[in-house]
Amino acid sequence: MIEPFLSAIPVINRLEASGFQAYFVGGSVRDYLLNRPISDVDIATSATPNEVKEIFQRTVDIGIEHGTVLVLFQNKSYEITTFRTEGEYQDFRRPKEVSFIRNLDDDLKRRDFTMNAIAMDRKGKLIDPYNGQSAIRNKIIRTVGSANERFQEDALRIMRAIRFVSQLSFSIEDETLQAIKKLVPLLKNIAVERIKVEFEKLLVGENANNAILILLRTGLFAYLPGIRNYISQMESFASLSFKGLKKVEMWSLLLFSLKLNNTSVEAFLREWKLPVKEIKEIQQILFFLEKRLEQEWTVYDLYLAGRKVLISTENLYGVLKGLTNIDSLTHWLNLYGRLPIKQRSDMKVTGRDLMEWLHADGGPWLRETIFNIECAILAGDVPNDKEKIKEWLIKCSQK
Ligand code: ATP
Ligand code: MG
Repeated sequence: MIEPFLSAIPVINRLEASGFQAYFVGGSVRDYLLNRPISDVDIATSATPNEVKEIFQRTVDIGIEHGTVLVLFQNKSYEITTFRTEGEYQDFRRPKEVSFIRNLDDDLKRRDFTMNAIAMDRKGKLIDPYNGQSAIRNKIIRTVGSANERFQEDALRIMRAIRFVSQLSFSIEDETLQAIKKLVPLLKNIAVERIKVEFEKLLVGENANNAILILLRTGLFAYLPGIRNYISQMESFASLSFKGLKKVEMWSLLLFSLKLNNTSVEAFLREWKLPVKEIKEIQQILFFLEKRLEQEWTVYDLYLAGRKVLISTENLYGVLKGLTNIDSLTHWLNLYGRLPIKQRSDMKVTGRDLMEWLHADGGPWLRETIFNIECAILAGDVPNDKEKIKEWLIKCSQK
């Protein structure tokens, strides 16, 4: 067995020593079988949440109503979820109730796709009642049991299927795909927060182009906030060649393809419930991208954008122009690196200095003067040095 499972074996041992069953399950087992990097190791157990909390000293209740407790163990954390079945489903969303059970097979049965319904014990033995390994070998996404039923229970699974196409470059098995086509309207019942988690994973997946085309062909895109009326723009988005872009870069590229104005960009991203900080960053990237398509960077724009937005803007410029080398990014980063100041707080003068030197009270002139000094420093007209700035300022005021 390999890390990070090895570190988690003592956790399983403890549960077993207390008389419970415990297995690795879900994405980590799937990714292990795929030889992909493994993110979080999830553990499923016959112990109830309260029993788990009695066994481990440090735990956090992160989803106790669904049976999940976070266990902190030797500087790592593990999500431990009690075997469960899901009761009746309401409104095609989450189940009305979950029942804890003591049997692994029934827990695997409630999972979405066969590739995600494989358990592994502490010795590495696989428990795979739904032939998940064969689905993985054949790169197939197939629901556990009837696709129609499984999507009706929880329509988010439709979105998850397509995000796995993007993430794993798998294809959707035919019955599952037909059920998706038929049932996409059920997505209108799903909270945007849950859709967003899957959509963002889809955007940054290795096979995103193909997944976006599936969103279009299945009609799913019509249930994604703000995208319904933009089919041709989405097609041109899907035709761009973007590998390895970050999440905010993908959002920016999507919005660039939709050709929204700045106000609509904000409304769109708010509807998707993005945090304000990310919305601002995306707006900045779009602003500089539009400019970059017209002209080269000015020193002042490099300064305003900052290193992070500069890199994202250049990455997107490269995608839109079909550039394969990154020489231009290195060039602009060099230029950025040589800027005498990187932000206003780097300036060696403050508003207080200016008021003292010029024997004046604050007012609009102050803001303007600071701006002028900032530009002069960036343009190399005056060094970022208090005395030199003072001389320069007095000379200017005498003109
Ligand atoms: P990732 O590697 O992106 O985390 P994952 O498969 O681990 O992918 P999670 O959302 O972390 O996805 O879910 C963990 C496991 O829980 C899944 O592998 C699957 O077995 C089960 N699961 C998650 N969401 C659902 C759902 N909506 N319906 C049924 N089972 C689900
Ligand atoms: Mg996971």
